[in-house]
Amino acid sequence: MTNQYDPYEQMLSALDMAAENLGLAMNEYTTLRHTERELSVSIPTEMDDGRTEVFTGYRIQHSSLRGPCKGGIRFHPNVDINEVRALAAWMTWKCAVVNIPYGGAKGAIQVDPAKLSSQELGRLTRRYTAAILPLLGPEKDIPAPDIGTDARVMGWIMDTYSTFMGYSVPGVVTGKPIEIGGSLGRKEATGRGVVIVTDEIAHRMGIPMQKAKIAVQGFGNVGGAAAKIFYDKGYTVIAVSDVNTALYCENGLNIEEITGYSKQNHTLKGYAAKGVSEIENEQLLTLDVDILVPAAIENQITGKVAENIRAKVIVEGANGPTTAQADDILSKKKIIIVPDILANAGGVVVSYFEWVQNLQAIFWDVHEINSLLKKIMLRSFEDVYSLTREKKVSMRVAAYMVALDRVVKAKQIRGMFP
Ligand code: NAD
Repeated sequence: MTNQYDPYEQMLSALDMAAENLGLAMNEYTTLRHTERELSVSIPTEMDDGRTEVFTGYRIQHSSLRGPCKGGIRFHPNVDINEVRALAAWMTWKCAVVNIPYGGAKGAIQVDPAKLSSQELGRLTRRYTAAILPLLGPEKDIPAPDIGTDARVMGWIMDTYSTFMGYSVPGVVTGKPIEIGGSLGRKEATGRGVVIVTDEIAHRMGIPMQKAKIAVQGFGNVGGAAAKIFYDKGYTVIAVSDVNTALYCENGLNIEEITGYSKQNHTLKGYAAKGVSEIENEQLLTLDVDILVPAAIENQITGKVAENIRAKVIVEGANGPTTAQADDILSKKKIIIVPDILANAGGVVVSYFEWVQNLQAIFWDVHEINSLLKKIMLRSFEDVYSLTREKKVSMRVAAYMVALDRVVKAKQIRGMFP
C-alpha cells in the first residue's frame, strides 16, 4: 500500500500515471523508477569545543540520461534517504519539463544548520564535499542551494573542489556568490519563476491579479522572493509564514517591511504592524484566497488540509508540498495546481545560465537573464498547459508526461549498456 507521506512513493505514483497516459509499457521506463547512483557518507566534523561529531550525508543521482546531474543540497535535521531520492528524481523531471540539458540529483546532510557556528558549518561542508568529490564536476554533477544552504555554502563547495583539482572550477556548483562566478538573478530566480507561472495561470483562468488575494507559506529563498516580487508588482499578499509563525492582514501585508524584519531577525516572529495578526501555520493554507503558494517543505497540504482549502489555484513553490491523497481531493474540488516540477523550475533555469556563463567565462546582465528565464518559463508552461487541455489531465500529470516523454526518448536513442 502506498504511504502518502513517502515522497518517493508519491513521485512514483505521478510517474506511473504519466506513463499510462503516454501509453508507455513498464519496460520502456522501469529504469526511471530507480535512482542511478547513491552515495551515503559519514562526515566527521570538529566542533568549536573540540568534540568530534559525525554527521550523515547523501548525494543521490537519479538520472544522467539528458546531461550532467543537477540538484541542490539540503541541510535539515530530519532529512532521510528516501526524501533525497524523491528530490533527485524531481530534478530529472524538472530539468526535462523546462528542457535544459541536465539529469537530476540531490544531496543532503542530516543537520540543523542553525545550531552550528559558521566555522563548524564551513568544516562540515568542506568534509562533505571531499566525501562526495568522486561524483562531482561540471560535466558530472553540479550542486546548488536548497533548504538550509545558501551562496556561502556553495562558495565553500566551489573552493574545496577547486583545491582538490588544483585550479578554480566555478562551474562545479551554482548559486555561488557573484564575486566567484555566481549569476545575477539567481538568488530570486525560483521566486521569479513562481510569479511568472502564477501570472500565466491567473490569466488563463480569468483571475485579475491586481484584485487577487495571495497567501505564501515559507519565507526563505523561494517564498520570501516570490512574496516580494508579488508585492513589487502591486499584488495583495495577505499572509506569509515561516517555521515559527504566520502573519495575516486582510488588506495586504507590507512585504518590503517584513523582508527587512526577517533579514534582521531571522524570523517573522515578533513582527508587528497595524492590522497584522499572527495566525496558525495551518490556518494560512485554508484562508479565503485566490492564490496559495506553498513554498516551505514537503507534505504540507495533506488530505485533511485539502478538504478545507479555499484557494482557486495552488502554485507549488516547494517540492512535493501536496500529498497524493490531497491531490485527489483538490482535483475533485476543481482547484488547479501548478505542479512543483514546473512552478519552481526558475531556480534551476538560472542555475543553468550560471553554469553556461562559467563554462564560457562570459557574463550576462540581469535583463538578459530575467528575459530568458521568462521565455523558458512561459514556453514550458505552454507545453504543459496545452497537454492538460488536449489530454484532459491535471497539470501535474501533464508536466510529468512532458518530462517523461523527453527522458524516455533520450533513453531510447542512447540505448542500454551493455
Ligand atoms: P529556505 O530554507 O530558504 O526556506 C524555507 C522556508 O520555509 C523558511 O522560511 C522556513 O522557516 C519555512 N518553513 C520550514 N518549515 C515550515 C513549516 N512547517 N511551516 C511553515 N514554514 C516553514 O528554503 P528554500 O530554498 O526557500 O526552499 C523551499 C522549498 O522550495 C523546498 O521545498 C525546496 O526544495 C524548494 N525549492 C527551492 C529552490 C531554490 O532555488 N532554493 C528551487 C526549487 C525548489
